[in-house]
Amino acid sequence: MKILNYIKGKFNEPISSEWMDNFSPSTGKVIGSIPLSGDADVISAIAAAKGALPEWSSLDPSDRALWLDKIADCLEEKFEEIAHLESMDTGKPISLARSVDARRSVSNFRFFSEMIRDREEEVFEMEDATNIVKLRAVGVGALITPWNLPLYLLSWKVAPAIGMGNTVVCKPSELTPLTADLLMRVIDEVGLPPGVVNLVHGNGNAGSVLTGNPDVDLVSFTGGTSTGSKVAMSASPQFKKLSLELGGKNSSIVFSDCNLEETVKGVTRAAFLNQGQVCLCGSRILVEESIYDQFMDMFVESVESMVIGDPMDEDTDLGALISKQHLEKVESYVSLALEEGGQIVTGGKPCLPKELEGGNWMSPTVVTGLGTESRCSTEEVFGPFVTVHRFNSEEDAIKIANNTRYGLAGSIWTGDLERGRRVAESIHTGMIWVNTWLHRDLRVPFGGIKDSGVGREGGKWSLGFFSEPLNVCLKHD
Ligand code: NAD
Repeated sequence: MKILNYIKGKFNEPISSEWMDNFSPSTGKVIGSIPLSGDADVISAIAAAKGALPEWSSLDPSDRALWLDKIADCLEEKFEEIAHLESMDTGKPISLARSVDARRSVSNFRFFSEMIRDREEEVFEMEDATNIVKLRAVGVGALITPWNLPLYLLSWKVAPAIGMGNTVVCKPSELTPLTADLLMRVIDEVGLPPGVVNLVHGNGNAGSVLTGNPDVDLVSFTGGTSTGSKVAMSASPQFKKLSLELGGKNSSIVFSDCNLEETVKGVTRAAFLNQGQVCLCGSRILVEESIYDQFMDMFVESVESMVIGDPMDEDTDLGALISKQHLEKVESYVSLALEEGGQIVTGGKPCLPKELEGGNWMSPTVVTGLGTESRCSTEEVFGPFVTVHRFNSEEDAIKIANNTRYGLAGSIWTGDLERGRRVAESIHTGMIWVNTWLHRDLRVPFGGIKDSGVGREGGKWSLGFFSEPLNVCLKHD
């Protein structure tokens, strides 16, 4: 499968004439090739976006909302194709690709269409004047996305960005180009004006050309913390509007008064959804001493009951990791856990049919006996690897949970909602769930603090980020 760039309403081969392979995570085989875009490709995409900006940004928001509806309708018709491509490209189970990726990609466009249509202009009256706050487009946006939730995250940025009148250049992860290409086919099919959405494939070099270009006014980046820091260094000196959604090391805190059965289910899901490759995954599990043994028995049983195998199989709970390189990174943490004095309670290599042997496979791994300061317990691993720790008091749990450079998310499991809320408010993160995990309302702010990022997207925060407010003050006669 050969994929092309999409610039000014046309699918183009790269000017660079260079290509890179796209590999299947579950078999290790090449499934296609994508442009390895060079500077000229990126510059031509930026020029297309700049050219389309005046007309697109001057449309009435309700007209732009109609375009979002058309894209949502067309994506919905391709629901099964989205799920199939996403599963093939990322190695995630098809059931997950349907329930999370395909569903959210459609609902992101629907949600922002409604928000943009319903938005009312803010007005602040003074005794002798009226202030109107007008939200205008920022300009050309660079939207850079990772491989773990490819279309889910790309649509999360494209919908509010173009909805607020910006034009964009997308740079999806080189590891998962297929659904980004599908979105471009959809955009082409509905006939969105050329240049409003452009897309270049390629590696980090294409991303860095994009973030450093003076004609790009805004950068919305989701990815690793170290890349985020490079993006900030490139974009900040030019005062571009910048949103960074970065890594996480999130705690699941289990109190002794929780509903243990529901908690074990929830904590297992939080730990291993998408093979643990979700920035929100609860990869450090803190359990109150008095129920530790009982929790561990039930948790290990729950982890070992997960079905690992062919992502296209409807019964599969866990698929493959994204790449050989990433598998090696996650495996290196298993070795590190042993060096740091931990015990591997469950894990190893799964037993798989021959056709999957070339893929990037790892069984869900649970480590105990590590210090809460250990590298395994404080660094982002981003795979099917969790550490479990004991705690004795609320204060103890809060202290451990806050002992990491990240501050993205977390979950608290307790029968006492008052305590849940109290502890939640003491954890230094952007988001925290009580007795649930990844329970998303698209109106709420999404993002993290510390090394997990800068700024928020979601609901009115997305509309704010993808626009510039203009205050018009009208003095009364
Ligand atoms: P990554 O940082 O390696 O890559 C992300 C994107 O940035 C890719 O498209 C890549 O090509 C591009 N890129 C690489 N170098 C660049 C540069 N110098 N300038 C501009 N762009 C560049 O991340 P990844 O491995 O694809 O994704 C995994 C990471 O993403 C994890 O750390 C995870 O926690 C994080 N993540 C965060 C969120 C969130 O909302 N906070 C969501 C999903 C994933």
